[in-house]
Amino acid sequence: MRAAVPANTRLVAEECGVAGIWMPPGALGSEAARLAFFALYALQHRGQESAGLASGDGTRVRVLKRMGLVGQAFAEPDLEELIGNVAMGHTRYSTTGSSNIENAQPMVVHDPDLGSLAVGHNGNLINARDLRDRLRDEGVVFETSSDTEVLLKVIQRARGASWDARLREALPLLLGAWSLVLVTPRAVYAARDPLGVRPLVLGRHGTAHVVASETCALDTIGATFVREIQAGEVLRIDDGGLTIVSETPAERRALCVFEFVYLAAASSKMGGVSMYAARERMGEILADEHPADADVVIPVPDSAIPSAIGFARRSGIEFREGLIKNRYIGRTFIQPSQELREHNVALKYNTLDDVLDGKRVVVVDDSIVRGSTSGPIVKLLRRAGAREVHMRICSPPIQHPCYFGVDMARRAELIAAHKTVEEIRAYVGADSLGYLSLDGLVRATGGTTRDFCSACFTGDYPIPVQLELSKSALEVR
Ligand code: AMP
Repeated sequence: MRAAVPANTRLVAEECGVAGIWMPPGALGSEAARLAFFALYALQHRGQESAGLASGDGTRVRVLKRMGLVGQAFAEPDLEELIGNVAMGHTRYSTTGSSNIENAQPMVVHDPDLGSLAVGHNGNLINARDLRDRLRDEGVVFETSSDTEVLLKVIQRARGASWDARLREALPLLLGAWSLVLVTPRAVYAARDPLGVRPLVLGRHGTAHVVASETCALDTIGATFVREIQAGEVLRIDDGGLTIVSETPAERRALCVFEFVYLAAASSKMGGVSMYAARERMGEILADEHPADADVVIPVPDSAIPSAIGFARRSGIEFREGLIKNRYIGRTFIQPSQELREHNVALKYNTLDDVLDGKRVVVVDDSIVRGSTSGPIVKLLRRAGAREVHMRICSPPIQHPCYFGVDMARRAELIAAHKTVEEIRAYVGADSLGYLSLDGLVRATGGTTRDFCSACFTGDYPIPVQLELSKSALEVR
């Protein structure tokens, strides 16, 4: 039995990837779990701290979760244990708070009347602390510091003689961003918050139904895209086919625009728009907004490659690779301390001196968050002989914390919250610095500002964030 977690524990928020599979009940063995495993592979970029799988075989739900990357977390015998025709998976990346196996997902509850329910969650509840306090007052014991346990217990304790009924009652209580995949022994549920902050798509693989955070997961397992799970939609997939359990969209949509900037895989599509093509357009618009007199355009690999291509194409300056990324080092954000993050940049990239030596270089990156990557990159380029370094960023300055599941939870850490563009330029040591405008970013996506949450740039949150509440929900008291 695990110990109860004290009331004032820091609650964890996360960026994650989720996937769910339903196969006809005749499906034997662990084929569904196997598909979920490969779908998770494709969603590895959304979370690298822990990976988890669950399966349902008609009578029980089995869960297996481990720290680390998907490919390292599970071996063949693990998958063989996960028998049943329904399965789900989760990759986790905690954005605030501890990275430990207790907080890994899927999380599961065993309800005396309805049996087991496992959940995988991508997003962040802004009222998790409130909901948790309320449940604690009712005697509920929490075993983790994750907001996912809060939402799972809210669902379990809702009234209703079926999970459908409990979801209908519980989900409207959850404020914030949540794309959920849930499994019972027989069914897979997919649910998306009313604003549609985090992505979630539906696909088809032969007779199997698939849900996943991004279309790249459908492609990887050979599934075809059917449609997006709509904002505010709850969908059940079981022996009766696909059933819409509820539809409660908000008046507006608020897909996180940072999915386009950085979070989503370049190979994914959202709202029919290719991330890769949108990022190329960001680079083109950036070249119009902040032209540079230079000899080469290089990306900070990998995320900025398409935008550097766009910048080069529009400006007529040659595209070259000048930084080579070490493939075996994870994202710098994985390291919890600032000191380790800074050190990581040099570990992560090598320079191509013959591309850079004596050149005026435009270096394109997708974003500056804390400002710990850009300075060391400029230094590396200068060390390789770059005569001038012009930094171009494919998003506006990030000035406001994200309460909806991206790793930018503290204002104090955001460099653009405290420095002007000129001060940031001086801080990172570049000869010039240009950020894409919000209008340019939104134009590149093909959408309008009303389609997106861009609160990290504007401070205009799609649901009122009571700063005191969310602060206490995200930070240690
Ligand atoms: P920073 O050093 O904090 O300014 O981080 C900026 C770098 O981290 C950029 O090169 C981005 O590609 C990357 N990045 C931006 N947002 C995130 C995120 N939410 N998680 C991990 N990496 C990110």
